[in-house]
Amino acid sequence: AKEDGGNGYRFFTSEMNTLASDRLEMESGLRRALARGEFEVYYQPKLNLADGCITGAEALLRWRHPQRGLVSPGEFIPILEETGLIEQVGSWVLKTVCTQIRSWQEADSLPPLVIAVNLSGRQLQRSNLAATIADILEETGMDPRFLELEVTESVLMHDPQCAVDILMQIRNKGILHIDVDDFGTGYSSLSYLKQFPIDCLKLDKSFVDGLPHDEDDIAISQAVIAMAHSLRLTVIAEGVEKEEQLAFLRDNGCDIIQGYIISPPVPAHAFARLVQARANS
Ligand code: C2E
Ligand code: CA
Ligand code: CA
Ligand code: CA
Repeated sequence: AKEDGGNGYRFFTSEMNTLASDRLEMESGLRRALARGEFEVYYQPKLNLADGCITGAEALLRWRHPQRGLVSPGEFIPILEETGLIEQVGSWVLKTVCTQIRSWQEADSLPPLVIAVNLSGRQLQRSNLAATIADILEETGMDPRFLELEVTESVLMHDPQCAVDILMQIRNKGILHIDVDDFGTGYSSLSYLKQFPIDCLKLDKSFVDGLPHDEDDIAISQAVIAMAHSLRLTVIAEGVEKEEQLAFLRDNGCDIIQGYIISPPVPAHAFARLVQARANS
């Protein structure tokens, strides 16, 4: 670093170097993770409020780091996005989930389950996403009706026309369940909402948090549920932690909930046990 007395330049530089080297280490760690099989998929149940059954799950990526243990996606998804590694990792998640669904179906001990995979903005920008998904479905012999996709509202609204096109292509491959994730945080216009080939809105956790006391969160949740239903869309509430939130959502016509009150995301075998326990109770 340059000698530059008095203005803190040297201090700042060494701090930046630390951040930069942390990041580089993370980046090379992530490249190795894919090759060494350090990624895992966890499953968080989705509970249908009408009949109390688990209808499926959301697949959530985890990194089992050899030294640091389980690393959560908030820490590394942004780096996967920036480096473009998300495309390979995203395909790995899709393949892993499709293979898992197949094996649950073949075991014949579980009811049919629909499993949702998160798509990143970068994946959606690739014009060949629908073809990639179709290849994975064919390779794994998966029935596309059991695969669900989640795309955040802000990713959809980044280039709505492009999103409509790609989602249409995906739907034409037989995928019927497409959810708008983190709904309410991304300023969709109603006219686009109508055009997107979607069938479900996921009410963002930030609105669920304030239920059933915060008046704004009550108004927003009720408005989202009413609007979704009038557009014939299903509503999922995410991040439900308390009994009183669940009661509010049930009383107000929400269709499906997800959250720690049912279960945190868990490994595949634990999820299967959970589904069986619920079905037998
Ligand atoms: P998301 O799609 O909004 O997923 C919901 C997040 O909320 C998950 O965090 C989940 O573990 C957490 N959660 C669920 N229920 C509760 C609850 O009751 N209370 C609280 N406090 N949290 C709850 P997670 O697994 O850390 O994932 C964070 C984000 O990383 C996800 O947000 C998603 O945007 C992204 N992500 C995870 N897996 C993938 C993936 O395979 N591909 C892509 N592109 N993104 C992923
Ligand atoms: Ca999601
Ligand atoms: Ca979400
Ligand atoms: Ca969220």
